[in-house]
Amino acid sequence: MKAHDGMYIDGTWRPAVGRDVIEVVNPADEQVIGQVPAGDARDVDTAVRAARAALPGWAATPPAERAARLAALRDVLVARAGEIAETVTAELGSPLKLSQTVHVGAPIAVAGSYAELAATYAFEERIGNSTVYQEPIGVVGAITPWNYPLHQIVAKVAPALAAGCTVVLKPAEDTPLTAQAFAGAVHEAGVPAGVFNLVTGLGPVAGQALAEHPGVDLVSFTGSTAVGKKIAAIAGAAVKKVALELGGKSANVILPGADLAKAVNVGVANVMSNSGQTCSAWTRMLVHRDQYDEAVELAATAAAKYGDRIGPVVNAKQRERVRGYIEKGIAEGARLVAGGPEAPRERGYFVSPTVFADVTPGMTIAQEEIFGPVLSVLAYEDEEDALRIANGTVYGLAGAVWAGDEAEAVAFARRMETGQVDINGGRFNPLAPFGGYKQSGVGRELGVHGLAEYLQTKSLQF
Ligand code: NAD
Repeated sequence: MKAHDGMYIDGTWRPAVGRDVIEVVNPADEQVIGQVPAGDARDVDTAVRAARAALPGWAATPPAERAARLAALRDVLVARAGEIAETVTAELGSPLKLSQTVHVGAPIAVAGSYAELAATYAFEERIGNSTVYQEPIGVVGAITPWNYPLHQIVAKVAPALAAGCTVVLKPAEDTPLTAQAFAGAVHEAGVPAGVFNLVTGLGPVAGQALAEHPGVDLVSFTGSTAVGKKIAAIAGAAVKKVALELGGKSANVILPGADLAKAVNVGVANVMSNSGQTCSAWTRMLVHRDQYDEAVELAATAAAKYGDRIGPVVNAKQRERVRGYIEKGIAEGARLVAGGPEAPRERGYFVSPTVFADVTPGMTIAQEEIFGPVLSVLAYEDEEDALRIANGTVYGLAGAVWAGDEAEAVAFARRMETGQVDINGGRFNPLAPFGGYKQSGVGRELGVHGLAEYLQTKSLQF
């Protein structure tokens, strides 16, 4: 893995204007593994100018050629998959197998899906006496988090490029090396200079400068709800389009006819995977009162099996935040049945897989996003009660429903205030729209719905 000491702007690696750097730390052993430049508003301005200059040419490039560049990008990602997976593991701490299958495998599927969509999407159609054109929205400012460092980037850049937009990316400060590896792949795929640009830097400095830049037409942000609100305010004041993927507190609803052991085991795996740092994680398990004790026992057993094999959380601040929530859960009267606040290892930012029983819907751990390996198990009395609890947070990103009868699960899921629900398990579909109801966000990513975020509509009557 190689750390560049520059930023990828207008097709080349160039030094930052200032001298500040960001040190990259391996969260598994706390060793510094590299450093990247911390860009500021001046670097952002250079990158936005490059993206604006490249926009007319890229927007006018036939969709089939844009599709060919995206297919080439997918192929480069495939060729470099091993190397990129090692980079993700080094800066995020995720187990290598997870990096290979999920962190790199999913974005390869997404890049491939946009290569196909760019080639087949109807960018123009005749409606009555009008021709309606779908035109690129312009220059995209993409701001991404660290939790799935490559996926979050590809989920924005691939549809933007398919639409004919140009991009300036400001990745998370914890995982800039994956972003640099992505920029190298874009270059090798033959994407023209200026179409994709990378500025590494701090959120309140480079990120904010990007959101505020008048040369940016759309800000696409994934991260915390707190920062998302700031971005929305900046964009709102400038009447700039915004797409927001924010936090979640998703419910895993196990209805009485379901295969309880399977639902609990898959549910625990879903929360512990990536050390709980998944915005769509099913962090609230809802079980009927009659099956509650059995479910709690199954969940505690399943969680204990993971030990520290789940990997660390991303940094010391996140570890303290997660431990703070565990302590709060205990203080508010929830019953700890697995894990706890004690660090399982001396070095590295590890948190034990933790399960709480006797959680009530109003408790802090049942309302706020923890972003760590912490599961809350709640009891419900009947279906209406389950629905009230499931819908009873400010979030609505994802969820799951398990039932003996698929139609029963679908009927329940239709009443949930959330953007994506897995029925009796489910599996990743790179074409399925992903995004939030309520404070989980605005807009959708992936598939044709994700592409539409980067387009604006023009109609000509003739
Ligand atoms: P964050 O919102 O602080 O950071 C996300 C991105 O926004 C990063 O690139 C960051 O540099 C940038 N940023 C930060 N402040 C900014 C500002 N003022 N203006 C512009 N950009 C800014 O999120 P985080 O620190 O990475 O994680 C904190 C919490 O966010 C997590 O605990 C979790 O609750 C949530 N989160 C959600 C997701 C998701 O996919 N929904 C992903 C990661 C984190």
